[in-house]
Amino acid sequence: MGVSKAVLGEPSIAEAMIQGGVRFIADSRIENIQKMKKAGISTQLVLLRTPLSQAESVVKSADISLNTEIETLKKLSCYAKAHNKIHQVIVMVEMGDLREGVLPCDLSQFIRKTLSLSHIKLVGIGCNLACHGGVKPDDKNMHELSKLIDTIEKEFQISLEIISGGNSANYQWFKSAHDVGKINNLRVGESILLGCETVGRKAIPGLHTRAFQLIAEVIESKKKPSVPFGETCQDAFGNVPSFQDRGIRQRVIIALGRQDIRVSSLKPNNKLEMLGSSSDHIILDSKNQNLQVGDEVKFDLDYGGLLAAMTSPFIRKQFINCNGHVAT
Ligand SMILES: *Cc1c(COP(=O)(O)O)cnc(C)c1O
Repeated sequence: MGVSKAVLGEPSIAEAMIQGGVRFIADSRIENIQKMKKAGISTQLVLLRTPLSQAESVVKSADISLNTEIETLKKLSCYAKAHNKIHQVIVMVEMGDLREGVLPCDLSQFIRKTLSLSHIKLVGIGCNLACHGGVKPDDKNMHELSKLIDTIEKEFQISLEIISGGNSANYQWFKSAHDVGKINNLRVGESILLGCETVGRKAIPGLHTRAFQLIAEVIESKKKPSVPFGETCQDAFGNVPSFQDRGIRQRVIIALGRQDIRVSSLKPNNKLEMLGSSSDHIILDSKNQNLQVGDEVKFDLDYGGLLAAMTSPFIRKQFINCNGHVAT
């Protein structure tokens, strides 16, 4: 599954993932799924976050959703019946990361209840690691997941289509595993988008690690002292800042701020040094790079930065396909 949430379900990126070979497009927001469906993405769409009040829209727009609560499954079944549909679900199991998941000891009973719902089809079981608890997918927990699946399949005389072992953090395990057991699916976002695995954030051979660039405009460029003058008080965010005197420096301000981006997520492409930021301005030491007003400064982004930048309504998005065609 290609995961599109960090790009807000951008249809052109989902399309690129499909061309790259993913069998499903998965997103955590129903709004993104609706957007992709409207744009004509016709592969199976998976909702990654367990729904509740959005159950009706989920039944209407998503083919599959991940679930951990029987109340929600009842709602989904009810709406599926009303819309004359069968909604497919993957039940998530808790394997130690302590985000979503039914505890293994409760799984059997949970599956029994799920199977009793008339308009729900259980298509798989999955787990999610390395998101909240930072628990690493390894042979041990993946093997445990496979064993659980075996038990469930035997107990209920069923054969599950999708055994979803995790996200981009499963890359290293997958590459090194001699036996992946019953796991036949991963839900991969960051690895596709940023070209790295997420256990140690190492680049994956053959993938682009700079597919996304954030470009900001220089709106002031001046030589200024490196220490503020006047009596000091709290800054815009309630901190009392301190400064080191490095003499007169060439400083630039770019038209980008904390409302748009997590500033710690920005990696300047050149050797610029970040001096500070407020809601709408980022101040940089230009390190003798002779940046003029109107020049562009480019940044690489990490996952949090990509997510924030894609979500900011103030940042214009341009998608360039492999033959150089630009779409906005
Ligand atoms: C976001 C998400 C993913 C994808 O995570 P990446 O680290 O981007 O690969 C997979 N599964 C679930 C449940 C998610 O919420």
